[in-house]
Amino acid sequence: MTFQQLHLMPQLLRAVEQEGYLRPTPIQQRAIPPALRGRDLLGCAQTGTGKTAAFALPILQRLSEEKDPRGKRRIRALILTPTRELALQIHENIVSYGRELPLHSAVIFGGVSQNPQTEELARGVDVLVATPGRLLDLMNQGFIRLDSVGIFVLDEADRMLDMGFIHDVRRVIATLPERRQTMLFSATMPQEIAQLAASMLHNPERIAVAPPATTVELIEQAVYLTDKAKKRNLLVWLLQNRPIDSALVFTRTKHGADRVCKVLNGAKIPAQAIHGDKSQGARQRALSSFKEGKIRVLVATDIAARGIDIDALSHVINFELPNEPETYVHRIGRTGRAGAQGVALSLCDFDELTYLKAIEALTRQKIPVVEENPFPMERFEPVPKQPRPPRPPRTGAVPEQKAADAGTQRQQAASCRNDEGSPAKKSPRRRRRN
Ligand code: AMP
Repeated sequence: MTFQQLHLMPQLLRAVEQEGYLRPTPIQQRAIPPALRGRDLLGCAQTGTGKTAAFALPILQRLSEEKDPRGKRRIRALILTPTRELALQIHENIVSYGRELPLHSAVIFGGVSQNPQTEELARGVDVLVATPGRLLDLMNQGFIRLDSVGIFVLDEADRMLDMGFIHDVRRVIATLPERRQTMLFSATMPQEIAQLAASMLHNPERIAVAPPATTVELIEQAVYLTDKAKKRNLLVWLLQNRPIDSALVFTRTKHGADRVCKVLNGAKIPAQAIHGDKSQGARQRALSSFKEGKIRVLVATDIAARGIDIDALSHVINFELPNEPETYVHRIGRTGRAGAQGVALSLCDFDELTYLKAIEALTRQKIPVVEENPFPMERFEPVPKQPRPPRPPRTGAVPEQKAADAGTQRQQAASCRNDEGSPAKKSPRRRRRN
């Protein structure tokens, strides 16, 4: 199937061609035709499947076809998404796809000054991409009215739930006009999301596309068996001796990410870390430097990296293997996007061999062990646990691993394809403003 067969307008066809998209992905093939007709959608799909274009292209086309609204532009399409990174990426895509169309879009999210955002809104906006907390703030302050919204997208609904935003989402929905098109996307379908979908979608077209677990086959995987204490040297060696253009390195903790980053910079390998303790500005700068090729390595925790969309990411490196095998699948799905080839390397110590087995069982693949390894495993017994130093006082942020695990548990509890509507285990939830 081609994009032409989806009846997209010439301006959008030229835009997708300039993006280098040759043919629509499965979710685009199935979502675009009903979305163009104004149908509600219930999409079971994750980041990496091309779902952004699946809703963004029909939105742009439908808004362009509407009669020119007289007077000031009003928000006619609202896209709600859980994280700043996703909001920025969706907005970036909308700007790219809509480059030939006379539509204005804006993006708002918390953690940064609201002034540039309110100035942008004051100039008039057709499409607004927002995270729920900042949207409600600006609505309460009178900067935003949603009474002209005719198209509403709720993106990554299950993550909204995991991150404790679902009440904010419900409050936003309550202010939307009744007559509208709604598209809801979620990687998994826990009961609360299934209920929300049932309450706000009218006769939706249901679309489920394979989760990235199936894309694992496209990714070249390898594991280096080593010792915990040698991992830093091994990582430096890999980056110095292997043809690795760009690598996203995963660590289990925020401190781990900082430590790895320091070691790499010490070895003159440009690297930056992104995790929940970094300011929004620092995270964005790191991500932009990485995308622009100014730094070769981005070190990230699972939470910070979920939803990050980096074209042309050649390698994912697991500095530590995750204890949940699904997290491994999510991590390596950052490379090999939209059918591209990617490489995933893992550094595995003795204690992590059980995690490796669980990953191989889930993906039904044996991950080849690399023989050429100057830092091989020499310790064949568990590392004795060190007494932990006292923790600094809690700041109220979600502990990253816990939140990542909660997300994975939810994923396990209700896979979109086979458990739709089944009761999901309640994960520990904590409210966090975005
Ligand atoms: P998404 O799931 O929307 O985050 O998209 C994942 C990645 O796939 C992004 O980098 C998109 O630019 C890319 N992409 C989306 N649609 C296509 C397509 N039809 N062909 C190739 N790449 C695509």
